Amino acid sequence: MQQAIKDLDRAYQNWWAGRARAPSPRKRELNDAMRFPDPATFAVRRLSKNWGEVKLPKLGWVRLRWDRAISGEVKNITVSRRAGIWQVAAQYEREIADPEPLDLPVVGIDRGVTVFAALSNGTMIEPANCGKKALRALARAHRTLARKKRGSNNRRKQVQRVARLHMRVSNARRDFLHKTSTHIAKNHGVIVLEKLVVRNMVRSAAGTMDEPGKNVRAKSGLNRAILDQGWGMFDRFLGYKLAERGGLTAHVPAPNSSRECSSCGLVDQRSRNGARFLCVGCGHAEHADTNAAKVVQRRWDTPLLPVEVPGCRAVEAGTRQRAAA
Ligand SMILES: [Zn+2]
Repeated sequence: MQQAIKDLDRAYQNWWAGRARAPSPRKRELNDAMRFPDPATFAVRRLSKNWGEVKLPKLGWVRLRWDRAISGEVKNITVSRRAGIWQVAAQYEREIADPEPLDLPVVGIDRGVTVFAALSNGTMIEPANCGKKALRALARAHRTLARKKRGSNNRRKQVQRVARLHMRVSNARRDFLHKTSTHIAKNHGVIVLEKLVVRNMVRSAAGTMDEPGKNVRAKSGLNRAILDQGWGMFDRFLGYKLAERGGLTAHVPAPNSSRECSSCGLVDQRSRNGARFLCVGCGHAEHADTNAAKVVQRRWDTPLLPVEVPGCRAVEAGTRQRAAA
């Protein structure tokens, strides 16, 4: 109850401040989660390597699989259900010493959909495309679901199957992002990323009734690919992984990073041709994503004002826009 009231209050505050939409009623199956904010009302103990139990108000001791270390004082516990599986999350507090500053290289990263992350040192990380790989299975599961009678047991079971599929996708994506970000964080002291507002990048191209958009299907496919990457989560993982090692994650403006030459700084749409970058000013040639990653890094090393090109609009990273004649 305590936590539910806090959550409701925050939902209203966010709504009134324009940060979120109006709160909607919580739904069984969809919002099965509760937090116990008072450590006096619960207890946690570990029984063996893989088992533990948690004592919850009105429920008593509940067994659980213990899958990670708790090395501090537990402040609150959240119990939630995802795709039919109950999970317990414990938030704990512990003092840690400030890490020593790192003496590791600086790297710029350009994020995209054909290459998940291009590093300024030339490394390319292939995308995991977890959602894309599950697309057919998901479409099938959703079709089957559409044929089930509302309120029936079989429909409920099918809802579970769909939910499990979605969970597998999101677990696989998170796993990929953890592995990738840990590897990058271990080997670099400063990571420079372009500032991306994914929400603006995935706006629908559908337009309105009077003014229908162009290439709606292609844009919707690109949007799906963008959302499948998990750029925001990648950003967060890198942020805390660098911070706890004594490193730093920096953000620089994104516009034109894919059409700027990393060697001479000239911004020209004609330099970019698919995956190739060939500067029309100085002849510098490189993989377009590596070039963009170097531009990102340079914007942090030597911050310059973004260059405006006549007839060229600042667009999202990784997409091309033809300059007006
Ligand atoms: Zn150049």
